[in-house]
Amino acid sequence: MNKKNVSISSVISDLINHLNQLPGIGPKTAERLAFHIIKSPENKILSLADSLIKSKQKLSFCNNCFIVTEINPCNICTDEMRDQKSICIVQDSIDAYAIESTNNYNGSYHILNGYISPINGIGPNELTISSLIKRIEKKPPTEIILATNPTIEGDATATYISNQIKSANIKISRLAVGIPFGGDLDYTDPKTLTQAFNSRQIFE
Ligand SMILES: [Zn+2]
Repeated sequence: MNKKNVSISSVISDLINHLNQLPGIGPKTAERLAFHIIKSPENKILSLADSLIKSKQKLSFCNNCFIVTEINPCNICTDEMRDQKSICIVQDSIDAYAIESTNNYNGSYHILNGYISPINGIGPNELTISSLIKRIEKKPPTEIILATNPTIEGDATATYISNQIKSANIKISRLAVGIPFGGDLDYTDPKTLTQAFNSRQIFE
């Protein structure tokens, strides 16, 4: 008697395919997550589905700084206690939240929603750079902080923006690259160590 192969349900393969499209989720993790979802209590999964739907229905990008927000313009852009003449440029909203968690910066932000990456077909037009230029022309800031990630793409993006906005009246800075707090010199890669060495500051 021939054994009859049972093919995977299309509902399960559909779920795996959707999960597999999320960043950082490979096919194996997608499978594990799918079966975790199938085994989970219905109320938990309904609440997960509800929060996915709400994230699309209630959140949008601020018209001014492009941070993810429930109200437009966002709380940061309308806060008069903040220094609106300082703009910190970051790749994603999550980077702005990371800076906010330090309680060390009281200016505004501009979220690029990505970085320049010719290999992936992402040029300046795919980001929010033209809106940034218009924003600067409308209300010139006194300071621009380039806080893109210290990667090849992040550096290229920072250089491109800096070339676009060069003006005698705007102070343009880039976040320092260095040794993390609690780090070890002998475990630090040569590029970081060189940059940390070159960015050394007067010891007070
Ligand atoms: Zn905003």
